[in-house]
Parts: sequence; C-alpha cells; structure tokens
Amino acid sequence: MKALVLNASYEPLSVVSVRRAVVLVLHNRADVLASNGRVWRSERIDLASPSVIRLRQFVKVPYARRVPLNRRAVFIRDANRCQYCNRHAENIDHVVPKAQGGTHSWENVVASCRRCNTKKGGRTPEQAGLVLHHKPRAPRRHSWVLVAIGTEPDPEWEQYLN
Ligand SMILES: [Zn+2]
Repeated sequence: MKALVLNASYEPLSVVSVRRAVVLVLHNRADVLASNGRVWRSERIDLASPSVIRLRQFVKVPYARRVPLNRRAVFIRDANRCQYCNRHAENIDHVVPKAQGGTHSWENVVASCRRCNTKKGGRTPEQAGLVLHHKPRAPRRHSWVLVAIGTEPDPEWEQYLN
C-alpha cells in the first residue's frame, strides 16, 4: 500500500509506503487528508491508514520535476504497447537513431516490440516503412506519481493530482 504525500501547498510531492506516511503523521509532520478505509494498528495506537497526507511544513522543490527518462517510465507512458504496431512492447526504440543524430529524450524514445525494433534497425520510421502512431512527449507534470507507483493511482488521489 502506498500513500500520496502533498506539500503544505497541496502540490503532490512524492509517493511513500503507508508505514512511512504513518510515521510522518505520528511525528506531527503531516496530517491525514484521506484514508484508504483500513486501520493501521500498532501496539500503542489505532490509526486510520493514510492514503493521502499533507506536510505541515512547506518543502522547497529545487527544480521543476521532470519525470526521469528510463525504460520503466517509457513503458508506463506507452502502456506497454509498441508505438508502431500496438503489439506488446519489449524494447525501447530511438525514433531517430542515435547514429543519425537522434537524442536520448522523451521526444525521441518509444516502446516497441522486438519485431518492429529489428525491422527498423538503424533507420528512421520513414526509411523502414513504419508509422509512429503517437508523437512521443515528456509525461505530463504529475505523471511521475504514476511512474513512482508503476500503476494507476488510487481513486482517492485523483482530486489531489489535478
Ligand atoms: Zn511493433
């Protein structure tokens, strides 16, 4: 189970284990905004198990958070689908190959199946006769939350992510 951590400003900040969220609440560092309906029990206390917590003190985030580019994040963005043929993706493909000046960036990396990846080789989609179905983009602002948990967020989180 995971809990969403909001900054004092209500800005989503990170995703932590429920245990970590409970510790923050018990140390008066955060308040529970939403609970997942279960009860967290320890020897000393029963606490509504937090699903969303908000820090009491504002934490400065030093830079605009951009989702780090890695294999797992690309697969999540592309829903594990090959961006050329929509089959199950197993590979990461540079749309414009690095050898042709392509960059390792969100805008030039897509998930692809082994077949399309092999067919494409060191060529651009046009050169290989492949059609890219969506123009790849960097994930939206709070998509790092999805990457952090590797799945869809709890419904309770939605209002805090928008
Ligand atoms: Zn494919």
